[in-house]
Amino acid sequence: MAVKKVAESFSKALADEVQRWGGMKQTGVSLRYMMEFGARPTQKNLLLSAQFLHKELPTRIARRAIELEALPFGLSDEPAVLKVRDWYLDSFRDLRTFPEIKDTSDELAFTQMIKMIKVRHNNVVPAMALGVQQLKRDMNRKVVPEELEEIHQFLDRFYLSRIGIRMLIGQHVALHDPDPEPGCIGQINTRLSPMLVAQTASEDARSICYREYGSAPEVNIYGDPNFTFPYVPSHLHLMVFELVKNSLRAVQERHMNSDKEVPPVRIIVADGIEDVTIKISDEGGGIPRSGLPKIFTYLYSTAKNPPDENYKGVSNSVTMAGYGFGLPISRLYARYFGGDLQIISMEGYGTDAYLHLSRLGDSQEPLS
Ligand code: ADP
Ligand code: MG
Repeated sequence: MAVKKVAESFSKALADEVQRWGGMKQTGVSLRYMMEFGARPTQKNLLLSAQFLHKELPTRIARRAIELEALPFGLSDEPAVLKVRDWYLDSFRDLRTFPEIKDTSDELAFTQMIKMIKVRHNNVVPAMALGVQQLKRDMNRKVVPEELEEIHQFLDRFYLSRIGIRMLIGQHVALHDPDPEPGCIGQINTRLSPMLVAQTASEDARSICYREYGSAPEVNIYGDPNFTFPYVPSHLHLMVFELVKNSLRAVQERHMNSDKEVPPVRIIVADGIEDVTIKISDEGGGIPRSGLPKIFTYLYSTAKNPPDENYKGVSNSVTMAGYGFGLPISRLYARYFGGDLQIISMEGYGTDAYLHLSRLGDSQEPLS
């Protein structure tokens, strides 16, 4: 079997090395630490950062590689999962074969290398989803809830770890930008306006809705346009985008065939002392209480046309719904910097999504 062959081709030495590194302690960083450190991207600091990553990345990657080999119910043997495992092993090897980082030229070469690693792992999320689909098919029986729960917990850990790894790489790479935007430290915007992000994310979601349905409900945003706080714009964009897409779809499907005026989606941005909270409210009919426990699980979706197995290019072609990742992944992004996501539904009326973002930026990355 091709599967076995791949496994055997990885030498015992590599396997031992992965075990050793996977047992080492991971070091978490906070948003605040990244900001303070990145505020002075001197050559000396970039060197320190690269030396830190040269140790930290293989530690984190090895943990994931070990876990990928030992998944329940034979999930580890599904072709899509094997592919993901190989990406992790390749990246581990790239990092471990890279010599000690002594000067700026080593540092630049290292930065190029980790940039490539980030690209290699671009499609991990849809590939894992495909793996779970393959498993469901191969099992020839219904997957029982306890099994799904175990897979769900693994995916939560796995994707959260991936967010952290990509944040660390992305931050190091971004600190090389010779001409950063004002107020930006690497990927962090110290003066990010949540209203502005909500606006662009809503427009992006509306244009996809438009493409899918030929029309899109309005989105009204309320809050102080001058209010800013430090956050990673791409993370915030992703979360609001997913939530607004869900709301637009619900409103659209509920009102498509009625002559009543389509109620707008409302976004409210509140700046508290601990949290910035963004509420996304819709009148899309809500979610039945019996369905609520499922909405944060991977692969649960009520979309009619689930994406087919040919997932190539998923990361480029954004769809309205169907993968069932929107909510669980958004919640992980929120939790990564100490926030959270809650969904409150009134069946027969609509849904409120509360996105809490920690304002202090002190919380350490959740690691497992
Ligand atoms: P997807 O959108 O791909 O289906 P999500 O994780 O974003 O995956 O959402 C999962 C499911 O939760 C949706 O399929 C839908 O049934 C339900 N849902 C999420 N948000 C809303 C909402 N605002 N109104 C009604 N149902 C929702
Ligand atoms: Mg969605």
